[in-house]
Amino acid sequence: MKRSVKQAGIAIAAVLATGTGAHADYPDRQITFLVPFAAGGPTDVIARIVGEHMSRSLGGKTMIVENVAGAGGTTGITRAAAAAADGYTIMMGHMGTHGAAPALYPNIKYDPTKDFTPIGLAAGTPILVVTKKAFPAKDLKSFIAYLKANDGKVTEAHAGVGSVSHTSCTLFHSVIGAKGARVTYRGTGPALNDLVAGQVDYGCDQIVNLVPQIVSGNITALAIATPQRSPALPDVPTTKEAGLPEFEVSAWNAIFGPKGMPKDVTDKLVGALDKALDDETTRKRLLDLGSILPDKDGRTPAALQKLVESEVKRWGPVLKAAMATEKATEAK
Ligand code: ASP
Repeated sequence: MKRSVKQAGIAIAAVLATGTGAHADYPDRQITFLVPFAAGGPTDVIARIVGEHMSRSLGGKTMIVENVAGAGGTTGITRAAAAAADGYTIMMGHMGTHGAAPALYPNIKYDPTKDFTPIGLAAGTPILVVTKKAFPAKDLKSFIAYLKANDGKVTEAHAGVGSVSHTSCTLFHSVIGAKGARVTYRGTGPALNDLVAGQVDYGCDQIVNLVPQIVSGNITALAIATPQRSPALPDVPTTKEAGLPEFEVSAWNAIFGPKGMPKDVTDKLVGALDKALDDETTRKRLLDLGSILPDKDGRTPAALQKLVESEVKRWGPVLKAAMATEKATEAK
């Protein structure tokens, strides 16, 4: 009698420890993958590519991408942060929503370092300065000269205060001492449509959104803001080669859940992301768009938590200084 009670006790402890019993059937219904920007932008593109493979390894339960745009991505993230922490709502955050936003939204309703369950980094995304095809300046140097000569008149497309495009171009403006007339979009997917149509003049956007339009010649890439050129765009010079070494910035997109998700559920999502980033087809789709993919150590929830903490710390002073410079050029 004694042995079986003991064995039963060990068995229950084992189940509780691994949680296999608690959520063994997870996921047993579709998962909402919230993207805090309009469809067709870099965050949406990465979520759909990675989400497609993740749903396959999660027993084929579909991941429904829900686009909730607004306020540089903070509207969607605020909503996702308040969802049930049951693994049926996850979100794609990025350098803007989980890095720069607290410096730009004093009343932001979430703390990127405390209010989420980190799942893992999906893709690094170098930033490029791009113009509409018909723009008169064809290289970075002459573009900067043109912007200075027409300060405030050239239109710049971004995805809202605190978004990556807004943050990156704010930095760009502070480095060159000039800026455009800023036009807000619900994501750089729609912004890119207007750039291709020639309705807006330039922007600073993530490479995964731009490669097809640059390769087809529908927009002009002036420079990529990373130390090395991208294998996806070998002819595009770095900002250093183009004479602006001070402007280097790269973004990232990562998956989070609401705070307090059960460990066994989180582990399944972490495992599914890991499999997606190991899958050759998924990797090729992301790499062909210029993504920089994290290695195994770079994908862990702990690595993502550390990245968020350092990004929130980094962007505060950087943006305050950049915005002060932008104001100063305005005041001239
Ligand atoms: N990542 C945003 C999007 O997908 C754009 C941005 O943050 O600038 O639209």
